[in-house]
Amino acid sequence: MIHVLKHVESITQHRDRALLELGVASALFELVKAQEVNLYKASQHGEETYLARVTHVGQDGVSYSQSEFDEGGEPLPLHDRPEMIASVEQSQIVRRHDTERNLHIHCFPISIDSRVLGVLEVVCGAPLADDDLGTAEGFLGLYRNYLSLLDYSERDTLTGLLNRKTFDENLSKILGHLLSSQDGDAATAQRRRVQHDEGNHWLAVLDVDHFKRVNDQFGHLYGDEVLLLLARLMLESFRHQDRLFRFGGEEFVVVLRATSEEEVATALERFRNTVENRDFPQVGRVTISIGYTAVHARDSIPDIVGRADEALYFAKENGRNQVCSYELLLGTGKIMPRAAPESEMELF
Ligand code: GH3
Ligand code: MG
Ligand code: MG
Repeated sequence: MIHVLKHVESITQHRDRALLELGVASALFELVKAQEVNLYKASQHGEETYLARVTHVGQDGVSYSQSEFDEGGEPLPLHDRPEMIASVEQSQIVRRHDTERNLHIHCFPISIDSRVLGVLEVVCGAPLADDDLGTAEGFLGLYRNYLSLLDYSERDTLTGLLNRKTFDENLSKILGHLLSSQDGDAATAQRRRVQHDEGNHWLAVLDVDHFKRVNDQFGHLYGDEVLLLLARLMLESFRHQDRLFRFGGEEFVVVLRATSEEEVATALERFRNTVENRDFPQVGRVTISIGYTAVHARDSIPDIVGRADEALYFAKENGRNQVCSYELLLGTGKIMPRAAPESEMELF
């Protein structure tokens, strides 16, 4: 019992998802004497559901994804793992005997609000006894509840997008990650190559045009409704791995990965166009302006946001309802290089 409580104590001291998941996997690995414990996250790409391993605890050691942006191992199509299909699709605990390796694989669905987020896989030399099944379910319950709490503190209450506090934490992690892979030795070279293939990070600031008029003309409640609908459009329009934040007021931030500036420009332009063509209830037409910039390893957060804000400011000054790149504006001489980043930081 004391042993279990020690695990609970160690798990609940983390406010970081990756460490929380590692704590749950390690606790189960020890308590049910598993051969390995893996945590898979489910994601939808088109019609297909994929699973990516984000945490592994085994006799060969431990590995886990470092940040929200690190998607873990190579995603596998769900249909490659039949025992996980029932677990994900029917939210059931599934056990399979792998006769080749003589191992018993137990799959526990991780679901919140009837949405299956992933699967916890416990691999053992024998089927789990009832006691151990109970332990595993208990830890999963703890994990689920804790995940809901984390979610609540990380999200904006109106739109459900990630909040400003989470933005700072996320971006710090990305920058730390970029720096360590840039400064790393040969051991990190492979990782760097993989990261390069996935492209660089970009940050875009989106701001509703003349939003004050919406409030003045239709009232605050309709203003809120516009923000809510915009957040929904963002969730539909950007990719699953892009991170969406409500930065404050009528301002949003998207952190995305792309292999070229063109790809970022296309994604942002598509979203701008979607908004322009949407008929917002009562309010009618709403437009947004967007400024974006590339994220570099040695950047500071105010510097990155400052550059995107400068491009946004240019968009606002030049007719609104448009997407502007800081780098392109600089390259074409439309703006001057930034002198003192912090002092220029201004939110609109
Ligand atoms: P611009 O095109 O230059 O961005 O003009 P704007 O009117 O959008 O910008 P401004 O910064 O002057 O006004 C932003 C307005 O957003 C003012 C504020 O009343 C409104 N606002 C900020 N947060 C909220 C919110 O949570 N709900 C609602 N309804 N309005 C908000
Ligand atoms: Mg505005
Ligand atoms: Mg604003």
